[in-house]
Amino acid sequence: MTKNLKPATIAAHAAGALDPQSGGVVPALQPSTTFMRDENYDLVRPDNIYSRDNSDNLRQAEAVLQRLEGAADTLLFPSGMAAIAAVFRTLPNGATAVVQSGIYWGTTAWIRDFTTRRDITLVEVDVSELAAACETHKPALVFVETPSNPWLKTVDIRALADATDATLVVDATAATPILMQPLALGADIVMHSATKGINGHSDVLAGVLSTGNADAKIWDDIRADRKGAGAILGPFEAWLLTRAMRTLPLRVERMTQNAQALAEHLMAHPKVADVFYPGLPHHPGHDVAKRQMTGGFGGLLSVLVKGSKEDALRVVGSLKLFLRATSLGGVESLVEHRHTIEPHTGIPENLIRVSVGIEDIGDLIADWEQALE
Ligand SMILES: *Cc1c(COP(=O)(O)O)cnc(C)c1O
Repeated sequence: MTKNLKPATIAAHAAGALDPQSGGVVPALQPSTTFMRDENYDLVRPDNIYSRDNSDNLRQAEAVLQRLEGAADTLLFPSGMAAIAAVFRTLPNGATAVVQSGIYWGTTAWIRDFTTRRDITLVEVDVSELAAACETHKPALVFVETPSNPWLKTVDIRALADATDATLVVDATAATPILMQPLALGADIVMHSATKGINGHSDVLAGVLSTGNADAKIWDDIRADRKGAGAILGPFEAWLLTRAMRTLPLRVERMTQNAQALAEHLMAHPKVADVFYPGLPHHPGHDVAKRQMTGGFGGLLSVLVKGSKEDALRVVGSLKLFLRATSLGGVESLVEHRHTIEPHTGIPENLIRVSVGIEDIGDLIADWEQALE
């Protein structure tokens, strides 16, 4: 495909993935784990040996993400956590990592456990203290998440990249590659749970890392770790992901519009105490988010309803369209009472996390209206 195509075109065409063998306009699913050699013992396809290294379906999905991210190289993993683990496993003993506090709980829990077992110093700080912590601790790695889940805090990626020589890794799951390009803002590696908005249909578990510098040592180490430790996405999941990403820009556009409208509506509701959403002018990260995100602020928001834990649970229980389930970024709207899931991390008891889907906005607002009654 030609250069400089816009995301909607790259995605709709799956970065040019076709099936030359059949003439199909979509790529074939090729599940083979092993690949033949000819009579001279040369590989029939030099790039295909064994599917723990790579496979055509994996390359096709990676090509789409690489193009959308403006990356030099992209690697898919069998989950977002597998992608994060591959990054942290590159750290030698004795190293220091600065990690943003109050991010996706699964990330925090795994990093704490891993760094304890590996003699790595972990410094967890709030967004407002990231630059100062880098100055003080001179970390090898900095890991942030923006917008963060479920607090929706915003990290100024460019300012942080300027403030540290460490490898800066940005979990941009809630933004997707459509709304934010962390590599262009100075991040070294961008990570997504592709389980969320990138796949968007709540039927594939996947994670992805992309880099602007494929020659960096850390990227070599990550690539070797994926192959050696075997944390690779299977061909069927990669094929489904390629299929789903054809509509990624469309889905993100609708989700973002819906989330903005719902956030504004709920913010004005007498039974709502606050709404955390970077698209609202009173949000502390609004100006930064406006600068570093394009086309909107994503489909994730958190609502503080007035009253107690019981009031919040009653609202969650009364919603009819918003399904009560964890996760985010799917075409169907979801809600979660995070305090029930992680009561020990300081999540307010009256916080309801909302993942806004692509349904009709009038229906979504009406559902909240009846639930808040
Ligand atoms: C879900 C999620 C992850 C973990 O991804 P999995 O695909 O579930 O392993 C990491 N970061 C964020 C922000 C997430 O929402």
